[in-house]
Amino acid sequence: MSIEKIAIVGGGIVGTACAYYLAREGKQVTLFEETVIAHGASGRNPGFVWLHTRNPGFGREVSLAGRELYDTLKDELPLDFEFRASGGIIFYTTEEQGEIVREFVSTVQADGYPMEHIDGAEVRRMVQPIRQDVLGASYCPADACINTPLLVRSFAEGARQAGADIREGVAVHSIIQEGDRVVGVETAEGRFEADAVVLGAGAWARKLADTVGIQLGVGGERLQVAATVPVPEIKVEPLVYGPLVTKQYRLFRDLPSWNADHFTEPYEDEANIEVLELMSQRKNGEILMGCAMDYPDEIDLRPTVEGLARSLQSIVQDFPGLRGVAVDRVWAGVLPFTSDTAPIIDEPIPGLFLGSGHVYGNAAGPMTGKLITSLVLGREPEIDLEEVRFDRALEMPGSGVAVRW
Ligand SMILES: Cc1cc2nc3c(=O)[nH]c(=O)nc-3n(C[C@H](O)[C@H](O)[C@H](O)COP(=O)(O)OP(=O)(O)OC[C@H]3O[C@@H](n4cnc5c(N)ncnc54)[C@H](O)[C@@H]3O)c2cc1C
Repeated sequence: MSIEKIAIVGGGIVGTACAYYLAREGKQVTLFEETVIAHGASGRNPGFVWLHTRNPGFGREVSLAGRELYDTLKDELPLDFEFRASGGIIFYTTEEQGEIVREFVSTVQADGYPMEHIDGAEVRRMVQPIRQDVLGASYCPADACINTPLLVRSFAEGARQAGADIREGVAVHSIIQEGDRVVGVETAEGRFEADAVVLGAGAWARKLADTVGIQLGVGGERLQVAATVPVPEIKVEPLVYGPLVTKQYRLFRDLPSWNADHFTEPYEDEANIEVLELMSQRKNGEILMGCAMDYPDEIDLRPTVEGLARSLQSIVQDFPGLRGVAVDRVWAGVLPFTSDTAPIIDEPIPGLFLGSGHVYGNAAGPMTGKLITSLVLGREPEIDLEEVRFDRALEMPGSGVAVRW
C-alpha cells in the first residue's frame, strides 16, 4: 500500500527530522506535539554531536553519517542552529587516568576511527577556565557542537515550508489499530486518520506504544544542567567531558587497563547519583554545564537540590575559572534509552514506524529522519537496520537501575 498521509508524534529532534524529510518527499505530514517544539530532551541538551565514544556497529555508522549530514543541514535548513566543528575532549588529571585514556585513544585509532591524544598545554589553550594541572585528553576532531533547540525548530520550520502541518499543544492519547494495521491516532482534538504513524515521542514513547500492545524497551534517565550568563570573554572551544564520564562508556570499561576507582568521586557513591561531567559553550558565550544522572519512577523534568549540587561539584573542582561566573538558568531533561544503547527504528505493525530510544539523538536523530523516510517509501535504508530492530533482545528498564552506554 502506498503511504501518503502520515501522523508524527513528538516534536523533538526525531519527530521534526522525520517531518522534514517526509514532507520534502511530497508526503502529507501532520506532526502532533503535546506542548511546544523542543519541549523534551532535544530542547534541553547541551549540543554534543558526540562521536568520541560510540560503540562499533550501528552506533558508529549512524554517527559518522549523521556528522556528515550536518555539513549539508547547516546550509540547507532555514534557521541557523550554531553548528560548530568544535572537536571534543575527555580530559584527565592523574597519571592513572592518563594511562587508561591513552589506551582508549590507541584502541580507537587502531579501528581507523578519528582520535588523537593531546597534552595538558593544548587542553588549557582550548579550554580557558580549566584547572592548571590538567595533564592531557583524548581529542576527537569529528565531534561537533550545535544549539539543539534551534536545530529542532529549524527542522520544524523546514518541514512547514515543505507543506507539513505542525500542531503544537495537541497531545496524542493513543495509536489506533484496525485489523493488522495502524490507521491513525486519537488526539486531544479528536481522531486523526492516517496511512501511517511515526512514534518519535522520546521518553514518553513507551506509554503510547502500550496502546497498541507493543512493549517498548525504552526508559527515561534524568540529566540536570546549569547555564551561565553569556561570557564570550571565556573561551571553551571543544565539547568537554571530564574523567568521571568514562565509566558510562563501554569503550572504556572494556579496556584491559580499566579501573573504575580512578574515575569515581566519593560523592557519587554517597548520593547514588553518577555525574556525566560536561561543558559546552553556545554562540552567545553562555556555558552549559552538567550533568547528574538519575532515574525517577515517573518522567520528571524538575531539577533537584541534590542533582544540581552534584552536577556542579565536579565543575567547581575542575574549572576554577568559572567559580565567580553567574548562573542564569538550571533545568532537567529526560533522556530516552534502551538497554543496549542503540535506538529502535522499525515497523513492528504495518503502518507504525518507531523512532524511539535515542540516547545520542544529536548524532543519530537527523539520520533517523532519513531512515524512517526510506522505510515509509519502501526504499533500501541508508544504513542496515538489523541492530535497531524492535524484536531484538532488550531488557525492560527497571526504575532506578543505572544504564551504561
Ligand atoms: C540534559 C540532557 C543532555 C543530553 N545531552 C545530549 C548530547 O549532548 N548529545 C546527544 O546526542 N544527546 C544528548 N541527550 C539525549 C538527547 O537529548 C536525546 O537523544 C534526544 O533529544 C531524543 O530525541 P527525541 O526526539 O526522541 O525525544 P524528545 O526530544 O524528548 O522529544 C519527544 C517529544 O514528544 C513530545 N510528546 C511526548 N508525549 C507526547 C504525546 N502523547 N503527544 C504528543 N507529543 C508528545 C514531548 O513533549 C517531546 O517534545 C541529552 C539528554 C538530556 C535530557
